[in-house]
Amino acid sequence: MKPDYDILVVGGGPVGATLALGLRGYGHSVALLEARHPSAGARDPRTLALSQGSRLILERLGVWPELASNATPITTIHVSQRGRLGRTILRASDEHQEALGYVLSYADLSAALDRALAESPEIAVRYGTRAQALETGNDCAVVSVEQEGAINKLSARLAVIADGGRSLNELSGMKRETKEYAHSALVGHVECELPHGNIAYERFTPLGPVALLPEGERGFALVWTARPEEAERLCGAPETEFLEELHRHFGDRVGKFLEVRARATFPLRLSTLRPVVRPHLAVIGNAAQTLHPVAGQGFNLGLRDAWELAGIARNIPGEAVGGSDMLKQYQSGRCLDTGGGIFFTDFLVRTFSNDIPGLGPVRGAGLAMLEMLAPARHFVARKMSFGAKG
Ligand SMILES: Cc1cc2nc3c(=O)[nH]c(=O)nc-3n(C[C@H](O)[C@H](O)[C@H](O)COP(=O)(O)OP(=O)(O)OC[C@H]3O[C@@H](n4cnc5c(N)ncnc54)[C@H](O)[C@@H]3O)c2cc1C
Repeated sequence: MKPDYDILVVGGGPVGATLALGLRGYGHSVALLEARHPSAGARDPRTLALSQGSRLILERLGVWPELASNATPITTIHVSQRGRLGRTILRASDEHQEALGYVLSYADLSAALDRALAESPEIAVRYGTRAQALETGNDCAVVSVEQEGAINKLSARLAVIADGGRSLNELSGMKRETKEYAHSALVGHVECELPHGNIAYERFTPLGPVALLPEGERGFALVWTARPEEAERLCGAPETEFLEELHRHFGDRVGKFLEVRARATFPLRLSTLRPVVRPHLAVIGNAAQTLHPVAGQGFNLGLRDAWELAGIARNIPGEAVGGSDMLKQYQSGRCLDTGGGIFFTDFLVRTFSNDIPGLGPVRGAGLAMLEMLAPARHFVARKMSFGAKG
């Protein structure tokens, strides 16, 4: 029996939507299931750090022009550690790039991708539809879906899980490994005294990294990593007390902090699924790997997962979709990039977020060396922009 679709994408977040949009115009039948209702993405308070490589993907999908005016370019990244010498500065101009990355709200990205999906009649998009279970057989995958209380089954040559790791966690034949960092991220938006000058700050402290990403005219998106009980305390602290603590923790580089909005916390962990493919099934984006936000790698890796999978599917006939050749090609193609992103992020967390005696000066020397060695700086900037294969 012919499956209902060639490709069935579960999850219409940035990663699932990118995959579906990347498949337009190549003759495959594609459906996308999304649990939320169409406008719900517009309320998501997350802020994303987009790499140059992700911008190129969004350009190719045709959604960048409407996003560009709401995206804040990062032209400089300033990396330092608290209480120690040694710092390094990465500049877009040294890389001959307009920007090293962009800061964008999840809500704006989600709205632009939803609009592009609405303008693509060849993709069957079903909002308010939740995948509940998945089985794979010899010829296809079968997904049980719930919509308005009714359960149906949909089959596809290839089911792609892009649910952000939020729902279909038990997938037979795939093992999830999770490492808790025993830290939470406190996120929010802060306004400060001095203009941001399109500089992103990454400051390592013994208690965890603090990142300030330029957002809008003067403000910053804040990601402050701390022990869970400390992050909760800061999240609920009165505004003046919070702003003073942030100033003490971060230092004087942006002047005084004047205002904070939309504080929230979330736990930090490294979660990886292995393998990420089985016949008629692939898992991509945050569902395949959830990383610490320290280097802004997770979201960008997910977008590259989607783009590469779409690229492979575009070049094969419908009957070959979901077959072992296609999935092996995808898995081996993603290995280096994913492994590199996970290693780099985990290395930064382990090396820079602790107070092991003697390590502070070594870290300082490392940052100072990076500052002096232009080729090493270019290497880091390039990998952060385009991934391990860049
Ligand atoms: C609080 C927070 C802050 C973050 N900040 C940053 C940051 O500053 N920079 C950065 O780069 N990354 C950040 N991230 C990570 C970033 O949000 C993810 O990398 C990115 O959203 C992953 O995209 P995704 O499409 O894989 O998953 P998601 O964005 O989680 O999307 C998954 C989609 O699947 C849908 N879904 C779930 N289950 C089902 C189901 N069973 N059936 C149908 N649909 C389903 C959901 O409704 C959702 O729309 C942050 C994450 C969190 C939680």
